[in-house]
Amino acid sequence: MDISVVIPLLNEEESLPELAEWIARVMQENHFSYEILFVDDGSTDDSWQVICSLREKNPNIRGIKFQRNYGKSAALNEAFRAAQGDVVITMDADLQDSPDEIPELFRMIREDRYDLVSGWKKVRYDNTVTKNIPSKFFNAVTRKVSKIQLNDFNCGLKAYNRKVIKSIEVYGEMHRYIPVLAKWAGFKKIGEKVVEHRKRKYGVSKFGWDRFINGFLDLLSITFVGKFSKRPMHFFGVWGMIFFMIGILSALYLIITKFISSDFSITNRPVFYISLVAIIIGVQLFMAGFIGELISRNAPSRNAYLIEAKTGLD
Ligand code: UDP
Ligand code: MG
Repeated sequence: MDISVVIPLLNEEESLPELAEWIARVMQENHFSYEILFVDDGSTDDSWQVICSLREKNPNIRGIKFQRNYGKSAALNEAFRAAQGDVVITMDADLQDSPDEIPELFRMIREDRYDLVSGWKKVRYDNTVTKNIPSKFFNAVTRKVSKIQLNDFNCGLKAYNRKVIKSIEVYGEMHRYIPVLAKWAGFKKIGEKVVEHRKRKYGVSKFGWDRFINGFLDLLSITFVGKFSKRPMHFFGVWGMIFFMIGILSALYLIITKFISSDFSITNRPVFYISLVAIIIGVQLFMAGFIGELISRNAPSRNAYLIEAKTGLD
């Protein structure tokens, strides 16, 4: 199979028929073998019924329905596990991304051998204050931290070599940073393509300020904790040792000085307290590393969600 189109959605019943028809048209015109993989992320409208009836008309349509809303990252992750295409293309369900971009994205992965191509919404139709300004800030920080030169990390329209999506796990609000996860997994050829951004035709946006705050916390966790999440001891242990050594060395200094001069009270010297505090901090950090190590070794999968129904999939 050439292409899996992965579409996470939450309450998008009005857009789905038009979107499915448009994608099918593009696929037929280009003679691609394909599947459209809808993940209904706990919709409370009739999105799931719409998906099931679309499948009756087009057997290339498949669907997974979550028991409740787990978030866009979880939806993508589930679809990535199920996707069968050589090239996997994600897009939003709200008709803001154009299926007409599919052939060129596919060509960039197949022929130019990109691991990942990210859409760049150069011209946007979103509210400036709640969307454009925070997103400029996020893109600048993410660029700096990840050293990946993308203008628009958060664009829902992206294309991947299947190897990429099979080697990463997307969780939390991490869908914004998939290029970063891909780079960490060792995929270096990351490209960008300017894509058309259309106005939302039906329904309302599901992302607001609260999601940006969660996104920021996830950014911190991938840049800072992320590097050490597999080996917390490597982070805490080093600092624990440094503090512990400072404590021990200053204690030694005090003991030696005590031997040299007889009228010398150790507890009167400020160094004594520095030594005490440094040893305590050192031991604490060491224990934090130890606990982190225990947790990371026994951690359950970050993505354990309940699936209510499937169509076209085992
Ligand atoms: N979405 C989802 N789960 C959520 C929130 C959103 O699957 O918890 C889907 C949504 O239906 C859409 C895509 O993610 O297909 C992008 O969401 P939206 O259009 O609301 O975001 P915006 O374009 O405003 O950034
Ligand atoms: Mg949208």
